[in-house]
Parts: sequence; C-alpha cells; structure tokens
Amino acid sequence: MTTPAYMDPAKIEYLTIHCAATPRGRDVKAATISQWDVRKFGQISYHHVVEIDGNRVRTLRDDQRGAHVGGANTGNIGICYVGGVEANNRPADTRTDAQKMALLTLIRTYRARYPGIIIRGHRDWPGVAKACPSFDVAAWLKEVGE
Ligand SMILES: [Zn+2]
Repeated sequence: MTTPAYMDPAKIEYLTIHCAATPRGRDVKAATISQWDVRKFGQISYHHVVEIDGNRVRTLRDDQRGAHVGGANTGNIGICYVGGVEANNRPADTRTDAQKMALLTLIRTYRARYPGIIIRGHRDWPGVAKACPSFDVAAWLKEVGE
C-alpha cells in the first residue's frame, strides 16, 4: 500500500462528495471501502466514509492527499457515503436520513474551519462523466438551507 502524499491542510479549498456505488441498503463498512480503494488505487481514497447508519469514519487525515477526483486531489477533501445505486446498479440517491445528517455535520465542520470552501459532487468536476454521488449537491444544500 502506498502511503498517501502530504497535503497542506492550510490550503484546503474543496470538499467533494462521492458515493460508494454500493446497492441501496447494503451495509458495507468504511474499512471495506478503504480495502477496495487500496486494491484499485494503491491508497485509501477518501477522508471520511459515512456508513448506512450515519456513522462517520475518518479514513484519511486532512494532511493526507486522497485519491478521489482525477487530477484534482490536492486541497480537496473527499467524503463518500455508502450506497448510491439500486440493486440493478442504476444510480440513485440512497442516502438514509442518518447519512444526510452525518454529511451535513461534516460539511458544517469543514465550512467552519475553511470559510469559502467549495462543496460539490464528484460529477460537478469538469470532465467527469459519472453519476457520482447520485444526487445534486448544490440543490440539496439549498433545500436544507446550507
Ligand atoms: Zn466519486
């Protein structure tokens, strides 16, 4: 396993939300997702994983560079929620209420620490042709008054 590169935590500008692309309701744990990432990308991808029950698991420190947006991982915090597809693999916003609460808690924490941090979904990055995180981050934040 590759040790993640250093990332200057004073220069964090982005927070990107992802889904694990696991089927609705499947209780995959953060440790499993990290194992998959290490196998696929040689390192843990995300800084936090939000499990089905809303449990927030810190998987990288903020001074470690993740591997979650191609070519744009420096200064970019990655948060992944478990779920994001239906049983037939179709993208769907499968977030439980507990996961939504946990995501909001994380977003508020980073906004307090990094005023002006830009929060977006993986698919909102230029050149990304993916459904991840299977919901419209900007619309959701507006809807919940963030
Ligand atoms: Zn993603």
